[in-house]
Amino acid sequence: MTFTDFNLHATLLESLDAMGFEKPTPIQEQAIPYIMQNRDLIACAQTGTGKTAAYLLPVIHNLLASPSGKHAINTLVIAPTRELALQIDQQVEGFGYYAPVTSAPVYGGGDGATWDQQKRAIVQGADILIATPGRLLAHMQMGYVDFTHVQHLVLDEADRMLDMGFSEDIMMIVKALPAKRQTLLFSATMPSKIRHLAKTILNNPHEISIAISKPAEGILQAAYLVNDSRKNELVKHLLAGKKIASTLIFASTKIKVKKLEQELRKMGLSVAGIHSDLEQPEREKVLSSFRAKQVQILVATDILSRGIDMEDIGLVINYDIPNSPEDYVHRIGRTARAESTGVAITFINESEREEFKRIEQLIGKEVNKVPLPPHLEGGTDNKPKQHHRPGGNQRRSFSRR
Ligand code: AMP
Repeated sequence: MTFTDFNLHATLLESLDAMGFEKPTPIQEQAIPYIMQNRDLIACAQTGTGKTAAYLLPVIHNLLASPSGKHAINTLVIAPTRELALQIDQQVEGFGYYAPVTSAPVYGGGDGATWDQQKRAIVQGADILIATPGRLLAHMQMGYVDFTHVQHLVLDEADRMLDMGFSEDIMMIVKALPAKRQTLLFSATMPSKIRHLAKTILNNPHEISIAISKPAEGILQAAYLVNDSRKNELVKHLLAGKKIASTLIFASTKIKVKKLEQELRKMGLSVAGIHSDLEQPEREKVLSSFRAKQVQILVATDILSRGIDMEDIGLVINYDIPNSPEDYVHRIGRTARAESTGVAITFINESEREEFKRIEQLIGKEVNKVPLPPHLEGGTDNKPKQHHRPGGNQRRSFSRR
């Protein structure tokens, strides 16, 4: 199958060509025809499957095929984080390069100028508005958001949004939209709360499930059973004196991220940290220098585990195990993309062993446990890890991760 089989607008085909998209991914093959028929859709698909293009292409096609001539919001995409919102916006820019399609990201943080810029985009009616729920509601409360002409609503990473406690916000936003619209829901997992949400806001949806929760074959996975007090030394042992590929290290808190960043910098390694204490422009700067390979090691909280598109990562280290088995798959999915190879190493402390078994159940195999180098055996564990499954009113603190 090729993109021409969808009968997409000629300008889109040109953009796809310029972007080097040769053939549709499975989610695109399955979703695009239904979306073009204006049907509601639930798609179970992870980041990395091409899900963003799966909904953007038909939506942009629609805009090009029947331009309304109005300066009005045509499509609302709701996404959990500003990073994802920005990335979706960049994809619109790519697909819309040859076309008169406007889009704007609306996300929290930033200063008064950011707010004003977002307000302008809303008031002027960007064709595609990509928003995080909290900030969009804040704008809605100011009274100038006009959703009268919205035809498509996309919920991207819906499971993540519910985990972050955005359920009520989403419902408030949905209530403000025209009842007659197309709704597309994308989610990496399909727990019952997602099914419930889908029942409430979708109309006779078509369902697609792209095989999920299995890491790519090209990822070599390994784990160390290691006490917390030895983790820094183990990272150093793994990285010292080696030619380092782009490496992503996930830690559970921003304090750990900062400490590890310092330690690695002291070793003379090229490292940067990314966490919620950084303002948006700083985060973007860090990300782009990592993408450009000016920085080799990025230490991050889970802010980066999903939805962020980065290629060529050779090594992912889970300094702490993630909050959920699905997040493990997302984290290690940062490596070995596009059928290349990569390595994912996880540190498991005493209190995390049971939880790691759940990860192994999800991925359907036991991860090889590598013996520690003799000088790193022993040591003490810190307090057992507290697993904050974000939800309910924890949204505010979570958004600062
Ligand atoms: P997503 O799952 O939407 O985050 O997409 C993951 C990455 O795959 C992004 O870098 C997209 O630009 C890229 N991508 C999406 N669809 C295709 C395609 N059909 N061919 C090549 N790359 C693609």
